Amino acid sequence: MYLPNEVKKAISMLEKSGYEAYAVGGCVRDSLLGKIPTDYDVTTSAFPEETKSVFKNEHVIETGIKHGTVTVLINNYPIEITTFRIDKNYSDNRHPDSVEFTRSLKEDLSRRDFTVNALAYSEKTGLVDMFGGLSDIEHKIIRCVGSPDARFEEDALRIMRGLRFASCLGFDLEEKTAASIYKNRELLKNVSAERLFSELKKLICGKDAAKILVEHAETLSVLIPELLPLKSFEQHHFRHDKDVLGHTAAVLQNVSPVPALRLAALLHDIAKPLCQSFDENGTAHYFGHAPLSAQIAEEILLRLKSDNETKNAVCLLIRHHGDRFPAEPKAIKRMLSKIGPKSFDDLITLMRADDLGKRPEYYPGEEFFQNYKNIAAKIIADEECFSLKNLALNGRDLISAGFAPGPEMGRILSALLEAVLEEDLPNQKEKLLDYAIKNFLQR
Ligand code: ATP
Ligand code: MG
Repeated sequence: MYLPNEVKKAISMLEKSGYEAYAVGGCVRDSLLGKIPTDYDVTTSAFPEETKSVFKNEHVIETGIKHGTVTVLINNYPIEITTFRIDKNYSDNRHPDSVEFTRSLKEDLSRRDFTVNALAYSEKTGLVDMFGGLSDIEHKIIRCVGSPDARFEEDALRIMRGLRFASCLGFDLEEKTAASIYKNRELLKNVSAERLFSELKKLICGKDAAKILVEHAETLSVLIPELLPLKSFEQHHFRHDKDVLGHTAAVLQNVSPVPALRLAALLHDIAKPLCQSFDENGTAHYFGHAPLSAQIAEEILLRLKSDNETKNAVCLLIRHHGDRFPAEPKAIKRMLSKIGPKSFDDLITLMRADDLGKRPEYYPGEEFFQNYKNIAAKIIADEECFSLKNLALNGRDLISAGFAPGPEMGRILSALLEAVLEEDLPNQKEKLLDYAIKNFLQR
């Protein structure tokens, strides 16, 4: 197994002082999967003060000294070194009441959540696999270390971590682990919104997100109760061949794994059960479901303590996901003006995924969507006008021409932009100014 030289050096310095030390957790798992780990954690039998003394000539930061973690900088490369520990009594289903340091690697590995995360490695000892983690990696299985019920009761965030690892690694949840996730799902209510949201974003960006969404809808509905009514909600529409949850899952999998886009896919039809009506042919319609879904998505994202940028981007996409407009420069400029160039590309991506989630015979084809993106890209590359930023006239020009500064000016500029978008006026300074003087200058 590959370890960076700095990690090898940290481990060997601890060993030379008589302690055990290993790379542990995610880095071992990812290495065995042939992935490059994002960071390397080291676990050691040295107690924190002992670790500090081993690295007394290096830069040591006491990042989590209470829990036994220090960060050592070796050639500026940060390595988290944590003492073997036992976590004691989780009275709040999330945090251990206290931690106890131990000299036993086995005790440390047994506090870890899943077998695939309970592997340790050093050059001296090789792989330490006390809970069958290697076999579970080979068989692509997420399995709790020890009794799943006990482990999820200790720390309910592990429920989300389990689903997240299954989604991101493309692994199956072992039967008892899966059953226990379902049984203990309500414990997620004891976990902070920030932690849940952070796991949720990773989960929905995983390669098996659709599968996890469908198979664990009840559990995910503890975070987002609005999801549950989508399950088994029949669409009663000729374009659809899946219930709303199944459709949502397909849309999710068909947008790129970027949190804002995946969140938009997850929530794009969240209001459908509230908007269903039937026409005389027995076909269902969902008038107004896009703006209502955007509104509900906003409530959900506020509850989950989403950052504003993500929330706004997601809600904008959802609000417009059902807007149909022709693939013509004029209509595309309108949309660019409404939602901005970044969201435009994402919106087309979402619309494409939305159609891919329906009966295949109604799919308009890749070219159909690519055409929108191409036309928009050309409008942007040609610096054509679709926002006040690229209007050939600005506030300063108006003031020079004798207009009074103030809020009225904003309205005048918007009216000019509107005329340009309508193609009533060319985006030329002289023409815009003439028009403004003729229509808006009060003498
Ligand atoms: P990634 O960094 O890719 O999210 P990871 O497995 O490295 O995955 P971290 O959150 O960085 O996850 O945690 C490092 C290790 O600490 C894990 O591999 C696991 O052994 C242990 N661990 C982390 N969180 C928990 C938890 N809530 N309960 C038990 N063990 C945990
Ligand atoms: Mg990690």
